[in-house]
Amino acid sequence: MFSLELDEIKNWMSENGEKPFRAAQVFEWLYIKRVTSFEDMTNLSKPLRDNLTESFEMTTLKTLIQQQSSDGTIKFLFELHDGYSIETVLMRHEYGNSVCVTTQVGCRIGCTFCASTLGGLKRNLEAGEIVAQVLKVQQALDETEERVSSVVIMGIGEPFDNYESMMSFLRTINNEKGLNIGARHITVSTSGIIPKIYKFADEKTQINFAISLHAANTELRSRLMPINRAYKLPDLMDAVKYYIDKTGRRVSFEYGLFGGVNDSVEHAEELADLVKDVKCHINLIPVNYVPERDYVRTPKEKIFEFEKALKKRGVNVTIRREQGHDIDAACGQLRAKERKEETR
Ligand code: SF4
Repeated sequence: MFSLELDEIKNWMSENGEKPFRAAQVFEWLYIKRVTSFEDMTNLSKPLRDNLTESFEMTTLKTLIQQQSSDGTIKFLFELHDGYSIETVLMRHEYGNSVCVTTQVGCRIGCTFCASTLGGLKRNLEAGEIVAQVLKVQQALDETEERVSSVVIMGIGEPFDNYESMMSFLRTINNEKGLNIGARHITVSTSGIIPKIYKFADEKTQINFAISLHAANTELRSRLMPINRAYKLPDLMDAVKYYIDKTGRRVSFEYGLFGGVNDSVEHAEELADLVKDVKCHINLIPVNYVPERDYVRTPKEKIFEFEKALKKRGVNVTIRREQGHDIDAACGQLRAKERKEETR
């Protein structure tokens, strides 16, 4: 049911001899009152409730693990209807509660620092399975009368590799008759699937857009992210500039710092050169140690040196606050640990 957008529910109502306004009522039950069965939608007639029950399933995610960090971050491992598992993370910030969602079971992009790609791609998530992650977290927050205020699409998977489901998910959570999460409170991050960047630019949304960069030269980026061999850095920068021209919005570049690999002052200078004409912001991410991978953390003082070198060259930069450090918080780590059979 969560895969249907409001307009699609309206169409279904018309096809089934019901008034279209019934769709908004269903939407409200799903996303505002957050009931878990059609039977509970008490302002709908009994025949309509029965028809909905026969026609649709409520996507249910089974909580396998819920780990809470000392900083309030909660990481969920959910099981899907076919037995696969996905991760969703609730992060608590001063400005509100943010949910990081997964878009695919596994990932085929193969970034060498990432636990999510171990075992490759199993399947795409349906839009409803992405929506259900936000709802599950919202239901957990309902106990303390809190609200999901922002969403980041940075969990397991490459969202642009599951583009249509991702866009449908965005429209549903953004809908003001439902969860009403504002476009400027949603962030999509890609590893750099260039044709989809052009497509996304043409959608002209107000959604925040981030690129996983991690290196400012072709050779190093190809080593860290094999996708750079198919979609090369100069072409990626052209696509990013197109996006900025089309939307008038700035982009964020995610730059993970890997000890001894991409974290020298020279790397920072190279990065500053790459983005000097680009309306952007750089997020430096001190990476968590991934047991299945070889990378190690950059020492704190080197992180500050890197930041200073960028600032000196006029680049907007922040060091991302680490969250969930004690609970396998990096993307894919919990799944890789708990579901070894899926991630081999
Ligand atoms: S970083 Fe993202 S795109 Fe790269 S392998 Fe991991 S999940 Fe896939």
